[in-house]
Amino acid sequence: MSTYALAIHGGAGTIAPELMSATREKAYREALERALRSGHAILKDGGKALDAVEAAVRVLEDSPLFNAGRGAVFNADGQHEMDASLMNGRDLRAGAVAGVQNVKNPVQLARRVMENSDHVLISGNGAFEFAHKQKVVLEDDQYFFDDFRYQQWKEVAGSTSVRLDHSEGDRKFGTVGAVALDQHGDLAAATSTGGMTNKRWQRIGDSPIIGAGTYANNESCAVSCTGHGESFIRAVAAHDVHALMAYKGLSLAEAVRVVVHEKLPPLDGDGGLIAVDRAGNLVLDFNCSGMYRGHVGVDAVFHTAIFR
Ligand code: ASP
Repeated sequence: MSTYALAIHGGAGTIAPELMSATREKAYREALERALRSGHAILKDGGKALDAVEAAVRVLEDSPLFNAGRGAVFNADGQHEMDASLMNGRDLRAGAVAGVQNVKNPVQLARRVMENSDHVLISGNGAFEFAHKQKVVLEDDQYFFDDFRYQQWKEVAGSTSVRLDHSEGDRKFGTVGAVALDQHGDLAAATSTGGMTNKRWQRIGDSPIIGAGTYANNESCAVSCTGHGESFIRAVAAHDVHALMAYKGLSLAEAVRVVVHEKLPPLDGDGGLIAVDRAGNLVLDFNCSGMYRGHVGVDAVFHTAIFR
């Protein structure tokens, strides 16, 4: 069997062990493992990296614990606007959606954009119309209602304060993502988010921006980011990891270290990323106190972690 590997994240931020109950930690770890298992089942049987990252992200989108899909945060109007993207490293095809509402699995819609449209990124009402046409599953507002998220929003509603949902004391969960290498040697990455709590003006973060929050190229690596989106866009973070490998010959670990610990911090870029290279090396790194994360390879040992 050729090698394969999968890594996932569920957001990075100020995540401290003393603020997390054992029950909550268990719930997070179980959700992460479920996502890993769904992606692993595909890779083990010789399936595609693209299918594996989509499957893993969908599991995380279906969990209310993470800021994506069902658990998406509230925007300033008390709505949920979600962003997602995915990219195929073999042919550099990509699909993304921004500011979509009522779509159960935004990553699935991003995949449809890639496969069934002439575009890479679509947004808002247009994306909703496309979702209808594609017959993806839609849910009413109630599906996305979570009391915890609602209280979180209430604290800042009516103000101009915009928050990363996982960087407020014990508020800590986030954007989700996955990267994979399959047995055919192909790489893929996917990212999905509800963005920032209380966001206005149809703000869009890095997650649906190819090169910023998501990037995959068989020449080098696949990357999915989480953190302060504005900074990741300015750093073109995901593509920068690729560029450091492709143009400078850095290893995956070294390229990720440069981006996460040297390039992002001066731009206020709190957060982290997960990445895999064409040899199946995995790097899960962050410059804050924690990141929900997990990985699995050919040994089928499911690793999950939260704190540093
Ligand atoms: N990067 C996401 C955004 O800025 C947020 C996150 O990673 O939690 O929309």
